Amino acid sequence: MRNLDALGAALAARSEPLIVFFRDDDAGWADDKLSILCETMSEAGVDLDVAVIPAALDSSTATNIARLSRQFATKLNFHQHGYAHSNHQAEGRNCEFGSDRDIEQQRRDIGLGQRRLQDTLGTLLDPVFTPPWNRCTGDTCKALAELDFRAISRIAGSTNIEHFGLTDISVAIDWQKKRRGVPITWSEFCQYAQHYLLNSDVVGVMLHHEHLSDSDLSRLRRFIACLRDSGKVGFRSMLQIVDSGDLEQKGDRKCN
Ligand SMILES: [Zn+2]
Repeated sequence: MRNLDALGAALAARSEPLIVFFRDDDAGWADDKLSILCETMSEAGVDLDVAVIPAALDSSTATNIARLSRQFATKLNFHQHGYAHSNHQAEGRNCEFGSDRDIEQQRRDIGLGQRRLQDTLGTLLDPVFTPPWNRCTGDTCKALAELDFRAISRIAGSTNIEHFGLTDISVAIDWQKKRRGVPITWSEFCQYAQHYLLNSDVVGVMLHHEHLSDSDLSRLRRFIACLRDSGKVGFRSMLQIVDSGDLEQKGDRKCN
């Protein structure tokens, strides 16, 4: 616990409070593990924003999401995660909405995914888009703005792109952070998280339920308790943060 004690003490010494949100990617895959994460976050009293892969939303996932949304209504939020989570780049890093596809192709896929999710999730769906692998282009944002999305979520350090009026609500902390392909230790994770938690006013944590072990969930509970006990952290959903306008007002101190 020494690592969390140090993080908690550093947070408690912050002069200003901060907002933290949790984004979980890849709903449509590993339904059972999504349920376990939702229960964990609900018990912790923290909102969870779940990014759903439209093409992976079959009837069993849809049934599971409907059950989860009834069970955890006020703490569970859904938004769109690409279309099929497929790579379309001929070269370089994986990207579903990258430079190898023009805006027409991107708009068609985003629109298809949006309709599929709206048909199934209805009013549960928030106008937020997380591109697979946290990568997309300015054309993606242009298409999203045309389709009435309000926010885009990538990860801190992503390349600069034009946002076309969308709010940038990117995550900063990757729960399964690796360096040179190797998962960092818990001690390293706490230091990595502390950097963002001390230097930003809005901080997002990225989870992937499919890869969360029992040990991860135990640490996640303790991490959330540490943030709460610091007395400096407020937890919000992504759309609550977008609606608050805090990301625009915080300027260059925001997480990305
Ligand atoms: Zn993903």
